[in-house]
Amino acid sequence: MKVKKNSPPVDDRIQAEMLQLIYRQSYPDIFVSLLSCALLSAILWSVQQKEVLISWAFILTCTALIRLTLFTLFNRMKPQGVDILAWGMPYVVTLLLLSISWGVGAVYIIPLDSQLHQLVIYYFLMGISGGAIFVYSANRTIGLLTILCLLLPITCWFLIQGSLLPVGLAIGTIVFYISIIRSGKILSLKLNQSILMNHDLKEAREAAEALSLKDELSGLNNRRAFYEKGKMLVDYCQRNNEVVSVIIMDIDHFKKINDKYGHAAGDAAITQVGHILRKGMRKSDLCARIGGEEFGILLTTSLTDGAAQIAETLRQAVARTPISYNNKDFTIQASFGVAVGNVDLDTLLKRADASLYKAKAAGRNLVVCDGRVVEKIQGR
Ligand code: GH3
Ligand code: MG
Ligand code: MG
Repeated sequence: MKVKKNSPPVDDRIQAEMLQLIYRQSYPDIFVSLLSCALLSAILWSVQQKEVLISWAFILTCTALIRLTLFTLFNRMKPQGVDILAWGMPYVVTLLLLSISWGVGAVYIIPLDSQLHQLVIYYFLMGISGGAIFVYSANRTIGLLTILCLLLPITCWFLIQGSLLPVGLAIGTIVFYISIIRSGKILSLKLNQSILMNHDLKEAREAAEALSLKDELSGLNNRRAFYEKGKMLVDYCQRNNEVVSVIIMDIDHFKKINDKYGHAAGDAAITQVGHILRKGMRKSDLCARIGGEEFGILLTTSLTDGAAQIAETLRQAVARTPISYNNKDFTIQASFGVAVGNVDLDTLLKRADASLYKAKAAGRNLVVCDGRVVEKIQGR
């Protein structure tokens, strides 16, 4: 696949897409976290000291609010492309803060004399960890780190209790953690592949679209692009009461050029005209190769004389620029038909075509603007 000039590395763009995905996915989790905190505090209210529960809930709410602020900023600033990568570190830091508030907090609020409530806390942590596996499947490292922060403190606490139930739970947690290391790897790999494929498809589609509008030989727009883009441009100008100009240019006696220098030399001449038009016209002008040796130019907000003068400048540029092919130099000439007005594209093209016909009939190598032959300015 062709890599676009100056485009950031594919890896960075995929990382950015993944980060955007987890920003979007994990937004509701902040509220789930706050809700779970309230619910757990209510369940433990009768078996744990109020100050312990309130201080834990306070810290957790603060970390959740910091995270919420980050997400709000992200949504407001809407970073695009690889700029999203700069939001990676704040995401990880706030996530780990919240996970530690849960993991360490769970040990802090654990009631020593009620195994039932210890199990309830464990149940909450397992629920949050389960959610984290899915939410952070796009980034395995973040997922594993989060679950480690959530479960490590309580696992250690269970282990040092010494009795069968807590030690059994601790061993169960370790087995659970090892199993998600493995399954997370497969999930994350598949997701990576799917994002990569999506990314390649998007680039291929963009490249195909660009190709379908471009003329290879001249490097300009093709006929289809000229009509599609031109119609939009003319419609816009008509709505805003602005004048549009169309120039049609046709190389003179091109058949003779082909016959004398060969078809490939004729191709080189078309490429040369493409160069001249790209160099001579503004970015906002629409230039296209609309036929074999015929070119169309659409200029916005150009006065009658302005478009005619531009055509005259192009006529001179075409006539004086030599074309080299197979060690032979030759020049070409072209005729121009210009139409200016605040009418639709088809009408402008018909009028420009009629002027081009007149330019051919009047001896070629001429500019005719709305039926009037434009005076040649020599030696510009
Ligand atoms: P006029 O001054 O009246 O325009 O004469 P002309 O010879 O340019 O016009 P005509 O329409 O008789 O011939 C156009 C020629 O352009 C015929 C065709 O072989 C040639 N042509 C069309 N497309 C291409 C192309 O892509 N490459 C080359 N080399 N020649 C082309
Ligand atoms: Mg011709
Ligand atoms: Mg022609």
